[in-house]
Amino acid sequence: MQLDTNCLFCKIITGEIPAQIIFRSENVVAFNDIDPQAPTHVLIIPTVHVENAGALARLSPTIIAQLFTAASDIAEANSLTGYRTVFNTGAEAGQSVFHAHLHLLGGRGLAWPPG
Ligand code: 5GP
Ligand code: ZN
Repeated sequence: MQLDTNCLFCKIITGEIPAQIIFRSENVVAFNDIDPQAPTHVLIIPTVHVENAGALARLSPTIIAQLFTAASDIAEANSLTGYRTVFNTGAEAGQSVFHAHLHLLGGRGLAWPPG
């Protein structure tokens, strides 16, 4: 595991900052968002510190696929019939934590296009 000691999500991976963790494997951790925007709002992150989805895809196509597999498994466990998976990249797109994270949102109707 390569972590950044100043990163909020790295601290969640190590347990230094508590979170409601709902899935953990060697490469992936998933936990409930602290400010949920839908009845199900889970953040799915790689256990390696990497800034955004593009960088993660270049580093490891396997791990980025594992994030989506975890999203699918969690959606199924929550009986979601429809859901949205989102990576925000860059502050302009709303990224506020610079450790790549896949949002899983579901449990209500979701408008398109997003804001
Ligand atoms: P972003 O805006 O970077 O795409 O998403 C960051 C997400 O992290 C936000 O949805 C925000 O609510 C969530 N978040 C920020 N701080 C914490 C925290 O300490 N714990 C948890 N569980 N989620 C957090
Ligand atoms: Zn990190």
